[in-house]
Amino acid sequence: MRLPEILTADLPFLTALRRDLHAHPELGFEEERTSGIVADLLEKAGIAVTRGLGGTGVVGTLQVGNGTRRIGLRADMDALAMPETAERPYKSTVAGKMHACGHDGHTALLLGAARYLAKTRNFSGTVHFIFQPAEEGRGGARRMVEDGLFERFPCDAVYGLHNMPGLGTDEMAVVAGPQLASSDSWRVTFRGAGTHGAKPHLGKDPITAAATFLASLQTIVGRVVDPLQPAVVSACSVQAGNPQALNVIPDSVEIGGTARAYSPGVRDQLETEIGRLAHGTAAMYGIAADYGFERRIPPVVNDADATARALKAAGIVFGGKLRTAFPPSTAGDDFAYFAGEAPGCYVWLGNGPAVDGALHHNTAYDFNDDAIGPGVAFWTALVEQELAPA
Ligand SMILES: [Zn+2]
Ligand SMILES: [Zn+2]
Repeated sequence: MRLPEILTADLPFLTALRRDLHAHPELGFEEERTSGIVADLLEKAGIAVTRGLGGTGVVGTLQVGNGTRRIGLRADMDALAMPETAERPYKSTVAGKMHACGHDGHTALLLGAARYLAKTRNFSGTVHFIFQPAEEGRGGARRMVEDGLFERFPCDAVYGLHNMPGLGTDEMAVVAGPQLASSDSWRVTFRGAGTHGAKPHLGKDPITAAATFLASLQTIVGRVVDPLQPAVVSACSVQAGNPQALNVIPDSVEIGGTARAYSPGVRDQLETEIGRLAHGTAAMYGIAADYGFERRIPPVVNDADATARALKAAGIVFGGKLRTAFPPSTAGDDFAYFAGEAPGCYVWLGNGPAVDGALHHNTAYDFNDDAIGPGVAFWTALVEQELAPA
């Protein structure tokens, strides 16, 4: 892969920046330092900057020529509440926080693209560089949308990028259709009547009901959802009783988990069926069930036209290393909220082989600096293609 000279010259700066961000991770909506660095660098590049959108979000706007088309490029800035265990010179300096999803890299890539495009200006139209807070489950994208992101910075298309271990740093995957699942939370409380563990007939045991519910839970995916439609239902938390009181049947059991789907229909189905199973189980055991399903993030489904545009740019940069078939992820990304406001495309940038088996959200994960050049080259090619002068 041959990178433009201006970009190659900027790689040492971008690498140092990426490592500095890695060493100073900040959780969602707390990205004060990170967003300050982002805003300062955008301003230094001569780009109009709006701070504080959706809390700690930043938007940089670069308008060149008289083209009327406007596009948004998204980078997420937040880290995760987990310790970094691997030793590296730029290891997290903050206990219990680390960049384990590579958002430090995403931030550096988009800044690299902004710096490059502000110099070369080889396009005609408007680019909004969107630096979002709080992608990791804290709702940063939604906050930015609610804060008027697309009213203040209208976009005819919006693009997102995520690093992907397992793909080489000279590889990218750009695929139409579903990329990431919806990510919703559900809670069930079985409410019985606590009693002496030796006298179950004098109470209403919610533990046995919970066990029946959990044992049946996978029949939703196995027996109700279309086998050709992916879906995940996982129970991830069970709370009841007290290990110090093994002769007490508790009043209630609280269960919670996640539900994932790639289509609105299956998403609706999961919401309905988990509730049906909870209420049905409760009825069977003569107890009560409370059920809640919280819709957190819609699925990310790539728009056909935006995908065609991303493919064209990725083809220029990655050539034969561009993958047009790649399995979707059961993870979620709140980029879905942006893609709900404008035609969207989400692409996977190779992060190289998983080092020591460390994947996203592993305490040893790291963004691969070899991906900075290719990643910046993709963003810049995308802008130059998307907003090609007439
Ligand atoms: Zn993540
Ligand atoms: Zn991520």
